Amino acid sequence: MSLASLSITALRTQLTAGEITPVQIIDDIEKAILANDSEINAYLSYDFDKAREMAANADLSLPLGGIPIGIKDNINTLGEPLTCASQFLADSYIAPYDATVITKLKAAGAIPLGRLNMDEFAMGSTTGNSSIKRTNNPHDLDRVPGGSSGGSAAAVAANMAIATLGSDTGGSIRQPASHCGIVGLKPSYGRVSRYGLVAFASSLDQIGPCTKSVADAALLLNAISGVDEMDSTSLDVEPIDFTANLNKGVAGLKLGIPKEYFTDGMDANVREKVKAAIDQLKAAGAEIVDISLPHTEYAVATYYIIAPAEASSNLSRFDGIRYGNRAEQNGNLIDLYKDSRSAGFGSEVKRRIILGTYALSSGYDHKYYNKAQKVRTLIRKDFTDAFEHVDAILTPVCPHAAPKHGENSDDPLKEYLEDICTIAANLAGIPGISVSVGKVSADEHSEEKLPVGLQILGPELGEEVILQVAQQLEEV
Ligand code: GLN
Repeated sequence: MSLASLSITALRTQLTAGEITPVQIIDDIEKAILANDSEINAYLSYDFDKAREMAANADLSLPLGGIPIGIKDNINTLGEPLTCASQFLADSYIAPYDATVITKLKAAGAIPLGRLNMDEFAMGSTTGNSSIKRTNNPHDLDRVPGGSSGGSAAAVAANMAIATLGSDTGGSIRQPASHCGIVGLKPSYGRVSRYGLVAFASSLDQIGPCTKSVADAALLLNAISGVDEMDSTSLDVEPIDFTANLNKGVAGLKLGIPKEYFTDGMDANVREKVKAAIDQLKAAGAEIVDISLPHTEYAVATYYIIAPAEASSNLSRFDGIRYGNRAEQNGNLIDLYKDSRSAGFGSEVKRRIILGTYALSSGYDHKYYNKAQKVRTLIRKDFTDAFEHVDAILTPVCPHAAPKHGENSDDPLKEYLEDICTIAANLAGIPGISVSVGKVSADEHSEEKLPVGLQILGPELGEEVILQVAQQLEEV
């Protein structure tokens, strides 16, 4: 069996027993990528020689010693290209430093291996907005893997990576995890340093793991979390071992089911599968409680003001001078900025910059940005109120299984609605995990089966409890 198909936990057992070597793992990943990635297109680049060199020197006494981890292409790894899947950075930017998560992975003995495809600058939910190539869902190549961390999820699902890092601003780890049938965890805002992550919307972005098992997600979170003087939003909280509570079960836990997340537009097969998973948790001893998160209906609108507003500001650094490929000089400096940005950014990124600039423009900021911030406070309060009565909240990750490529591409609004179940967690800063609960028929007329995920949301810094519930689900 290929070592590339194993979990971190399984590989660590074999590594420490001396049954396999870290170089063999890299070799098997290389074989898997060469055999399958021409169809899936999860990776943008990789350097196996460098990985093998690190593997040969891996310290197996460390918690992730000898384990290769794939990296979303918006996280800086010293000496490696970083493109954010944008033509603006393609073939020109080589990371001059390690992001804090990379420093931490290396300190835990892991080996960063490969750069994974994404929607350009993490804007999208299909990976179809990559301006470099389209990633396909390993379960059906005609379908999207989800996004924006589509490469990170597809590589794990196709056994071309042991585990990967993604980033999640409005669902970009959890939604592709659901569409690809793996585990995806968005930590609480501030749990993981974003130093070295290319900023999309700074009040929402988090880095998190995509893995084959819940235990692996806990192990990776152990390695990457913690306060960082390079990110003032990282929280100075007592470090905890996220694997500690995994086997505690769910007996006595109160799990809330928010009625607003089970809407009419939801695919009946997905609803049935999610409900069945909830029933299993009930059978395992959890108390299921109906709850309400009344401001849910405003979450998508609120996000699509705040995220583009922050993006329009963050992306101003890409001007062809400091960052990004420079257009030919045909006029003054302003022309050079315009030409570089017009040529460099893809259409979705331009749309977000225009939306965000408009929402922030003088005279309109009260109407849009400031109002969105107020609604955000109400959304956050919905969760604070709910978590006074329940330990965790269960929802679908997405109202349907993975769509076909291009299905929503003529209608940006339709694509924005993809994020309906995931966005509120980012607005509230709370952690969420997506766990696969099996496969459903793609639609009522089809025999084809596609994976679907259940989302478990926890209170701020409540990663332990959502991992505990996720582990129980994985077991049943
Ligand atoms: N799909 C959402 C968007 O397009 C979320 C993206 C993300 O989480 N990076 O903004």
